[in-house]
Amino acid sequence: MMEDKKSILVVDDELDFLAVIRRILKVKGYEVTTASSAGDAIACAQEHFYSVAILDISLPDMAGTELLSILLKIHPDTVAVMLTGHSSVQNAVTSLNRGAFAYLEKPMDPEHLLSVLEQGLDKQRLARENQKLLAELEERNRITSILLEVSQSAAKSLDLRQIIEASLAKVAGSIAVESAFLLLFEERLALKGQHGLAAPAAAKMAEAVPAIFSKVYQEGEPVLVDDIADEPDLAFLDREGYRSAACVPLMILGESIGVLGVAGSSLRHFSTGDIGLLTAIGREIAIAVQNSRLYEQASSARALRELDSMRTEFLANISHELRTPLAVIKGSASSLLQPDVEFDEMTRREFLQSIDKDADRLSRLVNDLLMMSRLEAGTLTVVKKPHRLADIISGVKDRLDSIALRHHLRVDIPEELPPVVADDGRIGEVLTNLVENATKHAETGTVITISACVNEGRKIEISVSDEGIGIPEELQQKIFQRFYQVENSKRGNRKGTGLGLAICRGIIEAHGGRIWVASASGKGAKFSFTLPVSEAADKDKPDLAQANTM
Ligand code: ATP
Ligand code: MG
Repeated sequence: MMEDKKSILVVDDELDFLAVIRRILKVKGYEVTTASSAGDAIACAQEHFYSVAILDISLPDMAGTELLSILLKIHPDTVAVMLTGHSSVQNAVTSLNRGAFAYLEKPMDPEHLLSVLEQGLDKQRLARENQKLLAELEERNRITSILLEVSQSAAKSLDLRQIIEASLAKVAGSIAVESAFLLLFEERLALKGQHGLAAPAAAKMAEAVPAIFSKVYQEGEPVLVDDIADEPDLAFLDREGYRSAACVPLMILGESIGVLGVAGSSLRHFSTGDIGLLTAIGREIAIAVQNSRLYEQASSARALRELDSMRTEFLANISHELRTPLAVIKGSASSLLQPDVEFDEMTRREFLQSIDKDADRLSRLVNDLLMMSRLEAGTLTVVKKPHRLADIISGVKDRLDSIALRHHLRVDIPEELPPVVADDGRIGEVLTNLVENATKHAETGTVITISACVNEGRKIEISVSDEGIGIPEELQQKIFQRFYQVENSKRGNRKGTGLGLAICRGIIEAHGGRIWVASASGKGAKFSFTLPVSEAADKDKPDLAQANTM
């Protein structure tokens, strides 16, 4: 049985024959068109597709084999059956070579004709099915390779913005539209990225998400707009020359997390294939988005854990730091107070020196803690006045010399260096801290240099450099965090609290300056900071430290 009425074109110049064959075929349910010349036949074929063409091999205006080639050129699918007289069997064979399905000799048996036709149509149907399968296979291949590309470009990064940008370019390319965009729901549904969207349209979408997209997000169903003029919500796209749009929800584990959309400049009917592809790409993007979110959560949890463990370590250190000098002071004082022991002058002095030294140490510690809490509270005052750097250094020279007793401290400040605007006391503390660090991490007898210059930004750049163990590149930012101490670093006799550099940074930032370190591991460290150059009109007004971003 035939699924639908097949149409057949019969071409022959014998009108009686045409009439007979028409009757035979009609009875079997075929729709029959007849032509008595090649010219007529070509005209018919140009108008209409015939499943079968039955051609007489000798026609008045053209050879049948010629007509065969022309008809198959117009519709390669047509099943062609040639009719021959005895004399033209050779021609019929040629026809087979040119693509005819069969040839029949006249006069022919109607039953035979009908069975040949059925075979031909079967073959045609099979060929079509194969073609369809092939096309489906090709389409599936295309989709797989697009998905692979999207997921590969999305997987290259955990940075959400990069993922979105890379994926959207692929989306637009694979659906063959000019623009693609992505909305994600965080606190609300918002535009997270776009590719090729006209600037005013992108701005409009960033400002407020059109209701039609919110609906896609909420209901989890795609929306297709074949003609944007019909959709008032998309008037802003219409104004930019877009004609069609499609939108699918981004789903992960059955939950909608956003919307993936495309817009094109031609009227277009989006096929189910397009929507399937868009949905599949959306799934890849949703997974990448989810991965990146999980990664972010994990990183911030890790950062918190790090800070927490630094605090714990700090508490352990601080009690050690407080107890050690206290023990020395207590021990020395108790010894001196023993009623039954007479110490000679030398020993008495040694006890007193220990008490003095460790009282200083305690005082410095308390001072550091106080500074840190002021920095955290934003209540650190800096009294900015014009000062000559050389004077600031002179003010702390004794302290520096006693700290760097076992090192060579060099001060290399150009005579003509303009004055800085700074709190001399606080900058003295910064220098003391930096020099103390240098002594802790550089061998006895090495050189520690304090130098200064005016840099390209018209700021005064002051550096403390040493010849010690240096600081690996990856830790150069971290050491400025409060509590941070480099593990296994060669330390002096005190353990320290990891507050020194955090305090330095706080002080320098309160001056509007910057502090950093340059170091190649093993080749010493050079800590530098900047201070503003004094202009004549500077006021002597105290300032509150604003920055406490430690
Ligand atoms: P505190 O200064 O509170 O007594 P600390 O010296 O350990 O303790 P910071 O001054 O903040 O803390 O320094 C942080 C870390 O940076 C130090 O533990 C050390 O590992 C590293 N560091 C600082 N200065 C140098 C330097 N000149 N050379 C090598 N490493 C240094
Ligand atoms: Mg220190």
